[in-house]
Amino acid sequence: TQQSLIRNFCIIAHIDHGKSTVADRVLQLSGVVSQRDMHDQFLDRMDIEQERGITIKSQAVRVPWVKDGTEYTLGMIDTPGHVDFTYEVSRALEACEGAVLLVDATQGIEAQTLSNLYMAIEHDLTIIPVLNKIDLPSADPDRHAAEIANLLGCSPDDVLRVSGKTGEGIRELLNQIVDEVPPPHGQSQAPVRALIFDSVYDPYRGIVTYIRMVDGELKARQKIRMMSLGTVHDPGELGVICPDMIATKALGAGEVGYVITGVKDVAQSKVGDTITTETLPAEQPLPGYRDPQPMVYSGLFPVDNAQFPELREALDKLKLNDAALVYEPETSVALGFGFRCGFLGLLHMEIVSERLSREFGLDLISTAPNVTYKVTMEDGSQHLVKNPSEFPDGKVKKIVEPLVAASIITPKEFIGSVMDLCQDHRGQMGTMEYLSPERVEMHYTMPLAEIVFDFFDQLKSRTKGYASLDYHEDGEQAADLVKVDILIQGDKIDAFSAIVHKEKSYTYGVMMTKKLRELIPRQQFEIPIQAAIGSRIIARETIRALRKDVLAKCYGGDITRKRKLLEKQKAGKKRMKMLGHVEVPQEAFIAALSTG
Ligand code: GDP
Ligand code: MG
Repeated sequence: TQQSLIRNFCIIAHIDHGKSTVADRVLQLSGVVSQRDMHDQFLDRMDIEQERGITIKSQAVRVPWVKDGTEYTLGMIDTPGHVDFTYEVSRALEACEGAVLLVDATQGIEAQTLSNLYMAIEHDLTIIPVLNKIDLPSADPDRHAAEIANLLGCSPDDVLRVSGKTGEGIRELLNQIVDEVPPPHGQSQAPVRALIFDSVYDPYRGIVTYIRMVDGELKARQKIRMMSLGTVHDPGELGVICPDMIATKALGAGEVGYVITGVKDVAQSKVGDTITTETLPAEQPLPGYRDPQPMVYSGLFPVDNAQFPELREALDKLKLNDAALVYEPETSVALGFGFRCGFLGLLHMEIVSERLSREFGLDLISTAPNVTYKVTMEDGSQHLVKNPSEFPDGKVKKIVEPLVAASIITPKEFIGSVMDLCQDHRGQMGTMEYLSPERVEMHYTMPLAEIVFDFFDQLKSRTKGYASLDYHEDGEQAADLVKVDILIQGDKIDAFSAIVHKEKSYTYGVMMTKKLRELIPRQQFEIPIQAAIGSRIIARETIRALRKDVLAKCYGGDITRKRKLLEKQKAGKKRMKMLGHVEVPQEAFIAALSTG
């Protein structure tokens, strides 16, 4: 394809503002997907995306578009909106020259509208502002066009109005993309340089790598070299996604497509790496990506410990498609062998464990999430604690926790409740700006640990769902934190140790001991369950002793029933963990860990 006829753009917006739906209409209007094959959120290809109605992965598709008799090639990337997937968006931006900034005409600008916009500006993309959902009776396009114009410094008339539902305005949008988004400016005659912006493990084809050609032309069956690793491969096939994979003879500068690299080892296909050719290699790689920093950590353990090798393999494959995931092996007294994994947030964590169970058939337990702490001891030694159970013994001098800069957009009547909530979560208020006479953006500095767990749900409920939240890591502070241990019959249960603020330590201790008392079945002896800070007990519950005589219920009669009961009890035993003398069903751990 001639470079001057290519337009690469992404669709960015706050979650639920209609990116995937607008992308659907583009696929339909351009004839790439027939009426018969069309279904909602077509590009949300994973089951989990369809069920939850959210986009997790960016998806690139090639779409032909004719304007004034000339056929253009549009490279469209639909992106996720949730704050946990910002890293997905930043990679998509790298493959584009333009961004369609979509704003729901019933809601206006929200927190991720702003963060995505700032990212697009940082990447020097041409921004096309668009109001979506104008078909809805509650849409107020005039008011929100003014808000957007105010933000971008354009005229309200420059803001397009579309409906992803009815398709109104989509034709005009595509024409405007052709007119305003500049064509790619790579050098078509230079040595090949292609940026790997994503990859995925396909059980039938092996590793599929998504690339944005920057310079040169890559031909099928040409030997390729990964520039950062220096490895050389014989690619099987290359092509474009339209919306299925279609093999082509070559990919030219500016095009977005895929290569099946033939790489066997997943570690050799690194997102952000530059592909060049073996025969005529480029001198300099492309800038690539900054590795994302995990925000929260949690342990992932197979319910059946024999599945540990499968879990490792599954993580390796998932990592390919999820560059933000990090993991290292971990052992736990209570849960056996597993991995300590780093995630970008709680939704990311949830999605990873769900994908592991769906796509790889693994049954997993995840421990309570935590952030990382820098601990300095009285003896001067320093420790980076990613796992509360690895908290060093001895006298602690200082604990430092990560902070975030948070931005909350809310209608002004909720300012008071938002302030209360932030205060409860140890937030420090910064500035406050009016986006319009009715809506404000509030800035806070807050401990990451306070914001990643239940903050968002509380924010939503206190503002009737109207507030939106965005945050990024920003500095650290020393804080009054303590480690709370949970002991069953005097034995510390590593999976339940937590680092919490001193003021909340008692609540945590009481909650966990209560919960475990309810979950652990009575046994022949009394079992104390305690919460402790160091050697000081802060909460205690007791499971009273029981003479466990299951056959007593059978009144001596029915022998088959007796046998069944015994068998049932035996099966139950298999899933028991022995902690000292105490038998704890694995389900008790899962239940205690799952509800926070
Ligand atoms: P995304 O998170 O930005 O990808 O948003 P989706 O495309 O998944 O859309 C979120 C919800 O808004 C879905 O229920 C869509 O059906 C709905 N929606 C999207 N665009 C429109 C529109 O133009 N009009 C109406 N009425 N609903 C829309
Ligand atoms: Mg979507």
